Parts: sequence; structure tokens; C-alpha cells
Amino acid sequence: MKVETVLAPNPGIYTGPGTNTYLVTDRDEVAIIDPGPVIDRHRLAITDAIGDRTPVAVIATHTHSDHAPLANPLARHLGVPVYGNRPGPDFTPDVRLADGGVVSVGGVTIEAVHTPGHTADHLCFLLGDRLFTGDHIMGGSTVIMEDATAYLQSLYRVQDLDIHRIDPGHGPSMDDAGAVIAGYIEHRLAREREILDAIAEGASTVADVVDAVYAFVPIDLGPAATRQVIVQLNKLYADDLVWFPAGEAGPSTMVELNVR
Ligand SMILES: [Zn+2]
Repeated sequence: MKVETVLAPNPGIYTGPGTNTYLVTDRDEVAIIDPGPVIDRHRLAITDAIGDRTPVAVIATHTHSDHAPLANPLARHLGVPVYGNRPGPDFTPDVRLADGGVVSVGGVTIEAVHTPGHTADHLCFLLGDRLFTGDHIMGGSTVIMEDATAYLQSLYRVQDLDIHRIDPGHGPSMDDAGAVIAGYIEHRLAREREILDAIAEGASTVADVVDAVYAFVPIDLGPAATRQVIVQLNKLYADDLVWFPAGEAGPSTMVELNVR
């Protein structure tokens, strides 16, 4: 069994050096994980890398535009099925994978692990003691969340998998998987404490919390920081730690600690 990476030429503030497209080969069969965006020279780089091996599957971790749109055209070109959790923009899986679903490549299996949080449809893929993490865990940065409660649960989920290596959707692979996951969990819990501390120290609107907690972010990530604070406030609301008009929050929304 061998794993190769073909880096997509789509670097950016949310994609780091670009999307990692992975080729998993066993015997003479190959599966492609996260083919990425529709870019001709990337498709050619993938088919060049496949060479004379027999493609058997194209797999997507989730339906974001930097991961999935090339899946259907590439699979059509290769004559293989597309696997993913559910349809999304520019993505229609032939085979829908739920938690525990498997894709066979040669003599090995790639197992889907449902990890909602970054998106509801996010899958990680377990191969032996390594995990392809898509945007659930990245190399060199933290992750944008749609749902902070689900995201933290999904970090605990992968912590229980007994993996040693992480192959992320962006950035370098990591061999210290346990430490990386523990670091992600600690980062999330630390952010929650910072938000609660900011409110305790006088932050009374979402914008105040963003200023207190995300003061260091580059200006072009400002709207993302506001969304991330709202997502985390929704979790803290569900945890009964803060009060605000949940689900309707904007920058001027008033927030307060729940009195205990
Ligand atoms: Zn994503």
C-alpha cells in the first residue's frame, strides 16, 4: 500500500499551499481522495500520477469548492464511481457513504468516519493507522466551523480512533496524530474560555467579543472571525453558559453570561 500527494494549484488564505489530492494505491488499484477544484492542469497531474494503475474510486471528504468539484468530471473520465456523504454544489456522489462505509482498493479498505462540524457532510477516511482528515484537521492552521458543538464532538471522535498519522486536506502530513488532535481540542476549549472571559470583562456585543478574541486576525479574515465567534456563541448558548438571541446573531447582537 502506498499514498501519494498531488498538490492542487489553488493556494490561498483558506487553502494554505493548496488542496492535497491523495492517491491511495494497493496492488495495481488506486483511489483518489479529494480531487479538488476543476483545474485542467490539476486533472492532468492526477491522471499522470495514476499512470497505468487501475483507478477504482474517486472520493470526497466534503462538498466545499476546493475539494469536490473535480470529482464527477474526473470519475467520468476514469470510468469509476464517485463516493461521498451527500450531494452538494458541483458534486453528485454515485455511492453515498455514511459513518462506517467502506471503499475497497486492492486488498485494503478505506473507512468513512462521519466528522460533522466544519460542514455537516464532512467525512474523514481511515486507512490502517492513518486518517485523511480533509478540513476537519489541517496542517498548519485551525479550521473554520459551521457547528462548534459538532466540531468538538468530532475531534473527540477521531481522538478515539488510535491513529498515528494525519493526512490533511491542506498543509503537511503529521506523524504525531495524538498530539495534534489534543492540541486542536485544547485550542477550541481555550477559545471558549477566552470568549467567556471577554464577556465577563465587559464585552457586550458580538463585535466586542471579536475584537477581544480575534484581534490578531488579518483584516481580510474579519468576516470569518465574526462568523466563528457567532458559531462558538451558539455552542456556549447550547451549553447554557451565555445568553443572546441564538441563531440570529450579528455583529451588534448583545451577549451576556448566563447568571448561575
Ligand atoms: Zn472545507
